[in-house]
Amino acid sequence: MKAMEVVCGERTIPLTYKPNPRSKRLSLRFSSKEAKLILTTPPFTTDSQIKAFLQRCKPWLESQLKKVPESCSIQPGEHISLYGTIFKCALDPLRRKPALCKITQTLHLPPRYTQKDVYDVFKKVAMDFLIPLLESALRTLGQEIKKVTIRDTTSRWGSCSARKTISLNWRLILAPPEVAEYVCIHEAVHLIHMNHSKDFWATVGKLCPSYKSHRKWLKTNGQRLMRV
Ligand SMILES: [Zn+2]
Repeated sequence: MKAMEVVCGERTIPLTYKPNPRSKRLSLRFSSKEAKLILTTPPFTTDSQIKAFLQRCKPWLESQLKKVPESCSIQPGEHISLYGTIFKCALDPLRRKPALCKITQTLHLPPRYTQKDVYDVFKKVAMDFLIPLLESALRTLGQEIKKVTIRDTTSRWGSCSARKTISLNWRLILAPPEVAEYVCIHEAVHLIHMNHSKDFWATVGKLCPSYKSHRKWLKTNGQRLMRV
């Protein structure tokens, strides 16, 4: 898979190039959520064919872009809660990419940025914040895992596989820290109980006595966090 960019008016849209041996023609898809283009190409497509195709797609792309707000859901002047700390989102004309300053509790935003740029920052924050919570739960349970991944998904908070890999949704940093901790504990306990049996919840309850209120919090507020 090759990556490139398409310039459309004032905007530069990242493009993922995806050769597909079974496809018969070039096709372009726009993911409004990630603000990126996905180009599928049949075998033996030349660069000039791709260029000409993208040129022909410009009017379509312009109409797609009109449907999506230029910028992402995080805007200068707003405040955002990350691992229970309130950060101010501030415009920083000298920057090229968003950056988080923990000392001043500021999310610096450059004049132009995409949703993905902000997600990249949040994913790093999630690594620093969620992994120690998971490790602490694993230590308490005397368990080990092969791998932990931080995912960008809007369908689940975490998962645990039989191959001892745990995935956590970076959006957990948008929840109160005790809720994020509950999810880490929940997934770690799955290493012992691969189900949601009585025994499973009893073990969760030992490590996290107020897990019921955290589950309730996620039920009530989860959808809001998934939309960030
Ligand atoms: Zn579960």
